[in-house]
This record gives sequence, structure tokens and C-alpha cells, in this order.
Amino acid sequence: DLVPVRRALLSVSDKRGIVDFARGLAEQGVELISTGGTAKELEAAGLPVRAIDDFTGFPEIMDGRVKTLNPKLYAGLLAVRDNPEHQAALEEHGIEVVDLVCVNLYPFERTVARMNVSDRDAIENIDIGGPTMIRAAAKNHAYAAVVVKPESYDAILEELAQNDGALSFRTRQELAAQAFHDTARYDTAIARWFAERSDDHPPLLVRAYEKVTDLSYGENPHQRAAYYSAVGERRHLLSMVKQHHGKQLSFNNLLDLDSATALARDFDEPSCTIVKHNNPCGAATGATALDAYRAAFECDPLSAFGGVIAINREVDAELAQALHQQFIEVLYAPGYTDEALEILTQKQNIRILEDQERRRVPLGELQGRQVQGGILVQDRDTIVLDRDTMEVVTERQPTEQEWSDLLFAWRVCKHVKSNAIILAQGDRTVGIGAGQMSRVDSVRLALEKCRLDSVQGAVLASDAFFPFADGPALAIEAGVRAVIQPGGSIRDDEVIAAANADGVAMVMTRRRHFRH
Ligand code: 5GP
Repeated sequence: DLVPVRRALLSVSDKRGIVDFARGLAEQGVELISTGGTAKELEAAGLPVRAIDDFTGFPEIMDGRVKTLNPKLYAGLLAVRDNPEHQAALEEHGIEVVDLVCVNLYPFERTVARMNVSDRDAIENIDIGGPTMIRAAAKNHAYAAVVVKPESYDAILEELAQNDGALSFRTRQELAAQAFHDTARYDTAIARWFAERSDDHPPLLVRAYEKVTDLSYGENPHQRAAYYSAVGERRHLLSMVKQHHGKQLSFNNLLDLDSATALARDFDEPSCTIVKHNNPCGAATGATALDAYRAAFECDPLSAFGGVIAINREVDAELAQALHQQFIEVLYAPGYTDEALEILTQKQNIRILEDQERRRVPLGELQGRQVQGGILVQDRDTIVLDRDTMEVVTERQPTEQEWSDLLFAWRVCKHVKSNAIILAQGDRTVGIGAGQMSRVDSVRLALEKCRLDSVQGAVLASDAFFPFADGPALAIEAGVRAVIQPGGSIRDDEVIAAANADGVAMVMTRRRHFRH
């Protein structure tokens, strides 16, 4: 299955290493054919090069839009060498076979990632001849080799030297796999760029993913894992952070980090969010980040152990000192003073991350969840905190303090797994019931979690309506004074009556925040 390489076509945008590769090929007696810019580079290095127009008998025209697109080249790339008809066609039309193409493409992705790039520039960077050659040679890998990465050059020269100027089938197949991966990725980036300009709704989902890094394991040690980012995605979970200290982030760390940062982004004022197993176990805002941290921690100190913490202000020495008292898996903040880093890095196991992304996640970004054989896609649950669209349904109106607490609780509620019940007081959570299969159980859990001497005066948020009055009744009995929930149950009347009976204020948002 060894095929000798006698003629090679080199046409590359990324010219790293091309001269050495070409020299190596020439030394093995390979004839070199090349396109304009690449040929110039090789000639300058004193290598013998045949121009593509000499090979095709057709000039490069239209500013390079048409350089290699010619039947002579494609017949030379696609001919089945042991097929007599193909052989006859080669002879009849005076076509020479090409055994190797070395091509990398116009830098479309790099071009569109530039600030203020014009559509015209982007489009000019859509390579046509390159992918066509790559695909032709990859299809015909039984006879031809296709090289798309400068990183492969050395290994290829080595194999040619070992095999008397030939490449094995395994190598050619391996190279073909890389080649199709490359062109698929390339076309995905282009399709995505067009999708961003399309008015289609829901937007076209053009996605391919590529591995950013292996992770040591998945949710459990016996599961292999890796982090993939969407092709063409300019900011992803790992590109947006700088890690100052600690081991590599784990699979579960990344999941929790995603949740913690989503909640942190919903606050403008100094805030702290502590996430465990993908649910907040404490969230608070405060006059300072230190106040917010203390308040968030107080909500459930037991669960906070080993949590993922997101803070939206720079961490100073004082806050670092407070954080240092606890066991933290991951700490995430927009910055740290030198002193703070000195304190925090005394512990080996804390992973310290600095948020380096100042732009917000675009509102239009879709959210996908894997299910068997596919993904479910939805719009993000963007927050709507408009008091004017909410309706007070009880005899008593919430006080201004209660309004503030209700809106805070409602904000947090969106980030808690359903059924979600949040007890809050003074812009901090004081009890969270998450992920229960019945709402009344979440109420019970939130009340049980509450470490205040009494729940008296706290407010409650529920991510969806109460199907029965039992949940609110329990909370009201414990001292909850105001409730926020979507409403819409056939038993709303009973729920409202339970509130009115104790002078409790209730707000209906008419909007639900399930998080499954
Ligand atoms: P060079 O610098 O050698 O002039 O051009 C190399 C680049 O041209 C490579 O990225 C290759 O993929 C691309 N290329 C080769 N043939 C064609 C063609 O016929 N049309 C277009 N648009 N690009 C080509």
C-alpha cells in the first residue's frame, strides 16, 4: 500500500515551514508545482518550482480567485491510477498526476475576528480552490496524500525518507481524515458568519465543536471528559478567564462555574454567589463585596464548603482573609490585589480565576442541552425585572423593603433548579429549596435550611405557581410576609386567600423561571 510521491502541489496561506518542507521534498526528487505567493517564497529560497499556469496551461486570473480551479489539476488529483479508462483519459488530454497536495486556507476565521472587518474583506477570504484541492486529494487518498498542517511536515519527510519516497495507506488515510476535519471546520465558520446575518427565526443553528482541552475525568472518575468550544466562538468558558493558581478545572467545576457566573452577571451591585452541585447555596448583594460574601456564606455555611464562588468586584486583602477561612474549590472574580493573591495562594487546592471578559454574553446566544441523539435548543431565559408588569394580588401591598427583597429573590430564583423556593431578607438568600420533585417539599427544605432565629419578615420566591395552598401556608406560618410567584394555577384563589388571611403581600409576575 505504499504510493511513491513524484509530483507535489504546494499552495499555502500560512507559509510557516513551507520552504523547509519543499526543500525536503525536492531532495527526494519530488517535482514542485506552486501558486503565485507560495512559488515566490520557494524561488526566493532557491528551490526549483514549476508555476501552476505552466501545469494547467491556464493563467491565474481575477486577483487569485481562479488559480488552481482547472480540470487538468483535478483529473491529475482524482485519477484512479489502476483504472485503464482513467489512464487513457490522462494520456488523451496530456494530464500529469499529482501525488501530494499541501494546502492551507485563506484565514477566514482570523479575518472575521478582527475589529470592524468589512463584509467584502470577509467574503474575499472565503477560499474556493484550496478546499476543492484538499477534498479532491482526500477523496482519492488511495493514491494521493493531502497535507493541511505545518505540524505534519516533518513526520511526512521522515516517512518518505524511510520508505524510499513513498507514503503508506495508513498515513494517507490519517491525512485525509485531518483534511476533511479542516474543511468541515472551515465551512462551519463561514456558515456561522452568514447565519449571524440572517433574519431567520429561530436562527439557524450552525455549530461544530472542537476540543479545547482534555479534562482529567467527567462527572465521575470512570468517565472520560474534555471541554469543547463551538467553532468560531470568540469567547468560551476557558478563553475568558486567567487562572492564577490551583489545579486544572474539573468537569464539575466548569458546570458550577457556568451557573455561578450566570447569576453573578445578573447583579450590578457588589455581589457574591456560592454554587454547589449546580445550585446556589447562597447569594447576596451588599455595600461591599466582603459584606456580600459574608451574607452569602451565612445562608448555608455547611453547604458552602468546597463551593464555587463568583464575586463581581476586585478581591482585596480583607476579603481574601475572609475567604481564606473556608475551603473553596473555585474562586472567580474580575481581579485580585497582590496582597489578596498572596493570602489566597497559601492554600494549594483553591483554583483562582480572573474574569477577563468585559463584554456581556450576547443576549441572543442560544442554549442547548444534550438529549439522546440530539440537542434541545432554546433562547436564554433573560431576566425581566419590571415591577410595572407585576401584579399585587393581595389586600396588602408589599412595603418598599419587601419589594426590594422580592425582586432580589426573584432574580436568584431563575438560577435555582426547579422546583425552586428562595427565602430572602435584606438582599441575601436565607434559605434555598432546590431541585425537589414537589413544590411543597422545596418550601419545607428552604424553611429548614433557614438559620435565622425566625423566618419572621422574610420574603419567598417560587419559580412557578403553587398548585396548592399548602406550600405558601407553611411559609406564612413560619413568618414569611411577602411572596413572589408567577401565578396561573387553577387554585390561585386558595393561594391568595391563604395570604390575605394573614395579611401577607403577594406579587404575581406572570412569568415563570423553570430551570430543569
Ligand atoms: P499563494 O500565496 O500561493 O498565491 O496562494 C495560496 C492560497 O491560495 C492558499 O490558501 C490556497 O488555498 C489558495 N488557492 C489555491 N487555488 C485557489 C483558487 O483557485 N481560488 C482561490 N480562491 N484560492 C485558491
